[in-house]
Amino acid sequence: MAKRKTHREECDILVVGGGMAGTGATFEARHWGRDLKIICVEKANIDRSGAVAQGLYAINCYMGMQWNENQPEDHVRYARNDLMGLVREDLGYDMARHVDSTVHMFDEWGLPMMKNPKTGRYQREGKWQIMIHGESYKPIVAEAAKKSADKIYNRIMITHLLMDENDENRVGGAVGFNMRTGDYYVFKAKTVIVAAGGASHIFKPRAVGEGMGRTWYAPWSNGSAYALPIAAGAKMTQMENRIVLCRFKDGYGPVGAYFLHLKTYTQNANGENYEKKWYEQTKKLVGEYIDHHPTPTCLRNHAFVQEVMAGRGPIQMVTKEAFQDPHLETVGWENFLGMTVGQAVVWASQNIDPKYTNPELTTSEPYVMGSHATCSGAWVSGPEDISPPEYFWGYNRMTTIQGLFGAGDTVGGSAHKFSSGSFTEGRLAAKAAVKYIEDQKAKNIKVSEKQCEDFKKIIYKPLENYTVGRNEITGGTVSPSYFSPIQGLQRLQKIMDEYVGGISVNYMTNENLLKKGLDLLKWLEEDLEHVGAEDYHQLMRAWELKHRAITSQCVTEHTLFRKETRWPGYYYRGDHMKLDDENWHCLTVSRRDPKTGKFIMEKMPVYHIIGDEEKKKAS
Ligand SMILES: Cc1cc2nc3c(=O)[nH]c(=O)nc-3n(C[C@H](O)[C@H](O)[C@H](O)COP(=O)(O)OP(=O)(O)OC[C@H]3O[C@@H](n4cnc5c(N)ncnc54)[C@H](O)[C@@H]3O)c2cc1C
Repeated sequence: MAKRKTHREECDILVVGGGMAGTGATFEARHWGRDLKIICVEKANIDRSGAVAQGLYAINCYMGMQWNENQPEDHVRYARNDLMGLVREDLGYDMARHVDSTVHMFDEWGLPMMKNPKTGRYQREGKWQIMIHGESYKPIVAEAAKKSADKIYNRIMITHLLMDENDENRVGGAVGFNMRTGDYYVFKAKTVIVAAGGASHIFKPRAVGEGMGRTWYAPWSNGSAYALPIAAGAKMTQMENRIVLCRFKDGYGPVGAYFLHLKTYTQNANGENYEKKWYEQTKKLVGEYIDHHPTPTCLRNHAFVQEVMAGRGPIQMVTKEAFQDPHLETVGWENFLGMTVGQAVVWASQNIDPKYTNPELTTSEPYVMGSHATCSGAWVSGPEDISPPEYFWGYNRMTTIQGLFGAGDTVGGSAHKFSSGSFTEGRLAAKAAVKYIEDQKAKNIKVSEKQCEDFKKIIYKPLENYTVGRNEITGGTVSPSYFSPIQGLQRLQKIMDEYVGGISVNYMTNENLLKKGLDLLKWLEEDLEHVGAEDYHQLMRAWELKHRAITSQCVTEHTLFRKETRWPGYYYRGDHMKLDDENWHCLTVSRRDPKTGKFIMEKMPVYHIIGDEEKKKAS
């Protein structure tokens, strides 16, 4: 331990995670904070990190205000509808009114945008999506961040936030370790922006064994975005609102371009359109929400899940018709080659040519994230001009901890941000963080040497567990006194799957199961003290697991608290199968007490800031 080197940095703004939101935050921090010291720390390498690492084929959030295609109000209505009424409209509106300027910068920076040859506008894939040749999307935004930061640190996993010893509700920086050298890193900072992506692999995935690692959401997104603020005592919201995706089976290839651009459609094994069949049954569960247009994502999943349970699977995407058109066939393949090469490989391995075979679809295991068609994340302040008092405490996108900001998947209540909206939210958070510093809110932060040294001992404990425990190995890797990160991960996934509504139980849970799940998660937490790591890579796995475990506790507490089934198709509370607007038209908020580990839950009001009326159609 003594030989391990410690590196120290002091800065004004520390950005944790250099994905879409993190690069946006780093870029914008420099714009407003010319003389500030800005550091971005990334677990991988920001040129190819985060959910966008492999590239994207579409930017899913673009208003097109310059052509009056959509206005921010329209986007709020859209997200509200898709999330069955429950979103933070202030956050959604704020993102939407700024997102076009972000996309225009991407265009200037050289991201190849597809243009409609007739109108000259960006080529629409759908109402909100525009098409790009996005293989180099991530390197392009990374370049902007690299030019803006004082320093970018790659290969460092942040494990804990440092807290101010003068004010227990104020952040003082973060610590972590380099996964290649094992060195310890201390970043003292006046403000921290957490932009560490969502969480995959907390529920048991469909792909196990030889397919392990094949998930829809990035397998390296391990919930640090939630674990860091939760452990520090920040409030979280809508953590029960996990997302389940309908995707091509086994490769998780996206379906958006297929539905929207290729106009393909789904059918059951008998060639029937099954969605309509479930209308009456769904109406009994959710009332008039089933009549909304477009049909909320979870309700479409619901029909899928019910149809398969009724024994009429597999569900297929009808590609044979569209693929007869050579242009659409090319688009169909390119869509995968730009962002999910694995789907093309899976089809090749299963001898599927979508021109001649309609490929199978599946519903994924649940994921936790705040930027897609779902709303999990930190409870943050909104912008001062539109947020009601319950949603505003001084600085845009600041969590309930002073000086700790969030963006992208980290932030709850604001779905449908996607890549462009996450970058935009990073910009908004950074602008507010600069103001926080200028307002002298970050003075006299005290972070003692002891706090840093204590974290150092905690971080490297899994290495010590292994060094001691390996002497007792009885066979292969089995030791009575430590267990490996993969064993712990599989235990976590089994608990979440069976008790909190995963794939094995068709997303069903209830109060008894959730309480039992919480018990088992508590035992796991205790056992996690004994996780062992034989090298620095395994040390990263150990910390990913610990972050996933605390995120899972929060998800389970929220799922237990909300006594209704608000999003059938994402999960079901078997003991409260109906949507209950009378009692649960509200946002759920939790806080974990850092001293006791206990969660306190509360309801917060949903304010409908944007009216219902339909905007006049764009020309
Ligand atoms: C399969 C898939 C398809 C998608 N398709 C589209 C699409 O077509 N169009 C679109 O607009 N959007 C799409 N999205 C959504 C988009 O990718 C996300 O909305 C966006 O990337 C979220 O930004 P973020 O910064 O919150 O997370 P990310 O971009 O994932 O960035 C998080 C970063 O934090 C780092 N990190 C994590 N933990 C730590 C830690 N402890 N310490 C340091 N660093 C850490 C990660 O390595 C990563 O670089 C898709 C997402 C997925 C998963």
